[in-house]
Amino acid sequence: MGAKIANMISSQDPNLIYSLVIPIYNEEDTITQLYDRLSKVMSQLALESEIILVDDGSSDRSLNMIQELRNKDPRVRYISFARNFGHQIAVTAGLNFVQGQVAIVMDADLQDPPELVPDMLKLWHEGFKIVYAQRIGRKDESCFKRLSVYLFYRILRRLADVDIPIDTGDFCLMDRQVIEALNAMPERNRYVRGLRAWTGFKQTAISYERDGRLAGESKYPFAKLVSLAIDGIVSFSRVPLRLATYLGLITAIFAIVMIGLVIYWRLTDPNSQFIGFAMITVSVFFLGAVQLICIGILGEYIGRIYEEVKRRPIYTLKEIGGLSNKILQDANTHNL
Ligand code: UDP
Ligand code: MG
Repeated sequence: MGAKIANMISSQDPNLIYSLVIPIYNEEDTITQLYDRLSKVMSQLALESEIILVDDGSSDRSLNMIQELRNKDPRVRYISFARNFGHQIAVTAGLNFVQGQVAIVMDADLQDPPELVPDMLKLWHEGFKIVYAQRIGRKDESCFKRLSVYLFYRILRRLADVDIPIDTGDFCLMDRQVIEALNAMPERNRYVRGLRAWTGFKQTAISYERDGRLAGESKYPFAKLVSLAIDGIVSFSRVPLRLATYLGLITAIFAIVMIGLVIYWRLTDPNSQFIGFAMITVSVFFLGAVQLICIGILGEYIGRIYEEVKRRPIYTLKEIGGLSNKILQDANTHNL
């Protein structure tokens, strides 16, 4: 029924060329400069456009600032969640409301430079349906974050069933066809950059150096980053499930070898220290660990099945600006 949400909400305005989709979570320190940089690029381009700001349940002044922007510039539209649903859901919701021929998704903290938009549009004119921005470097981020992100993208690439390009985030341009395809996907666990790659439309990369955050703190503490990484892997790969089987097989081989060794030691040296209490304790702990890891992996998949079968709406909206009220009612009813 997720497909129904999208078809109902996403209505195209034939005059609009591009829609900028920007998730906002407690970004009061960046919104003004974000708008200034965006409006510069927009006036250079001189094409019909809209800015869709998705307030992801901010608790600071973000929503007020968004409303002020809306009052002074009708190209600014917004939706506001009833609570914080997370970055990926905010992007998903923004895409549900896009009216332009293409959507360009970017972060609010200007780590994704808006000045890249004209080049992205040029590539779209050349026929690419997806233009994703690929980082060739990251400024002002800790070595630890850089290393973990570097490793994660490479592991994901090895494990995933679809070809998810490395070092790409959500900063990208998507054609209407891709937006419709994403909007028709009913799943609640949304790793947008993976889903985007999954659609398989003609795509290309555009390289850029990722700037540091303009102001404020990252809204992705390490725990959230890990959870995003697990979402990416579990949504796009069944290799971890197979890992359980491999671990089981390895343990079985290990156990058979140990049986042989214990018999051998018993026969040759009945007082051998290898067949005592320590041996038993170590094997119990080892097997306990293997089993718990496997249950944990199963839990990740089963938890996701549970989330999906509940069929709750993906988000709840408390307010929208510049978009019709019918959309708000539709979005909040449970039978979407
Ligand atoms: N964001 C969001 N909901 C969240 C966390 C983040 O909408 O729960 C937004 C945030 O406002 C920003 C984007 O997602 O526009 C990326 O977040 P951030 O810059 O903090 O992540 P980082 O660049 O540190 O990975
Ligand atoms: Mg950022």
